[in-house]
Amino acid sequence: MSDTIAFDFAPALSLITRADRIAIASHVDPDPDAIGSLLGLGVALEERGKQVAFLSDGPVQPNMHFLPRAEAITDTLPPGFTPELFIALDSSDPKRLGSVAQPLLADDDIPTLVIDHHATNLMFGEVNVVIVEAAATAEQIVYLLDALDHPISKLVADCLMAGFLGDTVGFSVSSTTPLTMRLAARLMEAGAEVHTLTDRLFNSRQLNEVQLWGMGLLNTTLDDGVLWSVIPYDQREAHDLVGVSRTRLSNMLLTVAAAKVTVSFSETADGNVDISMRARPGYDVGSLALELGGGGHKLAAGCTIPGPLEQAVERVVTTLKAIAS
Ligand code: 5GP
Ligand code: MN
Repeated sequence: MSDTIAFDFAPALSLITRADRIAIASHVDPDPDAIGSLLGLGVALEERGKQVAFLSDGPVQPNMHFLPRAEAITDTLPPGFTPELFIALDSSDPKRLGSVAQPLLADDDIPTLVIDHHATNLMFGEVNVVIVEAAATAEQIVYLLDALDHPISKLVADCLMAGFLGDTVGFSVSSTTPLTMRLAARLMEAGAEVHTLTDRLFNSRQLNEVQLWGMGLLNTTLDDGVLWSVIPYDQREAHDLVGVSRTRLSNMLLTVAAAKVTVSFSETADGNVDISMRARPGYDVGSLALELGGGGHKLAAGCTIPGPLEQAVERVVTTLKAIAS
C-alpha cells in the first residue's frame, strides 16, 4: 500500500527549489481547501527558508481565522515583494484566482505553478500539477511535501487537515479514498486536531450565514429531480447579506431526498448570476459549469453567468432537468 500517487513532481520541485520568494494564491470566495492548502504549503515553504506572500482575493470567512498564519493572508502583494514563482491553488482557470493574481499571471518573468484537483482545469501554468483523483488540493500538497522530503509539522498538518475536512465534508463524500484516509491519519499523527478543526469549520458560523440559508431555503422549487434556490440581489441587500458565502447552503440543498441535482442562484450587484451546483453520485454538473465558463467537479461545481436572473434560472434549470432525467 503506497502513501502516494503516480505523478512526476520533478518539474514542480525544480521550480520551487530555484525560487526564494514565492507568491501563492487561492480562489475567490475561499473555502477551507483553498485556505488550508494556501496556508499549509506557505507555512511549509517558510519552514524551508523561503519568503512567502499569502494571497487571497476578498475576505477569509471568520471560521478560518484561527488557522496558523491566517493573519498573513492579504489581497495585495506586500510592497517590495518581488516573487520569483507564482503558485495557483485549487483554481481551474485564471480568472478564478481574482484580481490579485492577474498581474502575476501576466508577468512573463514569473513562472506559474498550478496545483489543482478539478477535472475542468485549463492547464494554464508553465507547470501543472493537476491530480483529479485527489480529494482536495491539500491532499496534493502532502504529495508535494513528500516529494520535497519535507517533514510535516503540526502547523502544516492543521492547515492541510482543514482542506481535507472541507472538501471531503468530514470524509463523507465519494471523493474520499483509502489513500485520502491514510494521508489524513499521517496528518493526525503529525498533530492535526481533527475534532477542533471540525468544530471550527462546520459548527461555527456567523449569524448572517444562517440568515442567508433561511432566505435561500425559503425560495426553493423542486421539479423533475432538480431543486433550485433563488436569491435576488435586492433581498440580500435589504437584509444586509451581501458578500455572505452560500457554499454551505448549497451542500444543504442536496440533503433533500428527492433532489438529484441542486443549484443555488445568487444575483450579484452588477446583475450577473452566481451559480453553485451539487449532484448525487452518477450525475455530473461539472461539465455544465465548464460550458458556462466556470468549473468544478462532477458533484460540485459553479460559474457566473449574465442575468437577468429569471432567464439565467430558466436556462440552467432546463439543462439540469435533462441531466437529472
Ligand atoms: P461552490 O459551489 O462551493 O462555490 O463550488 C463548488 C466547486 O466548484 C468548487 O470546487 C469550486 O472551486 C468550483 N467553482 C465554483 N464556482 C466556480 C467558478 O466560477 N469557476 C470555476 N472555475 N470553478 C468554480
Ligand atoms: Mn478543492
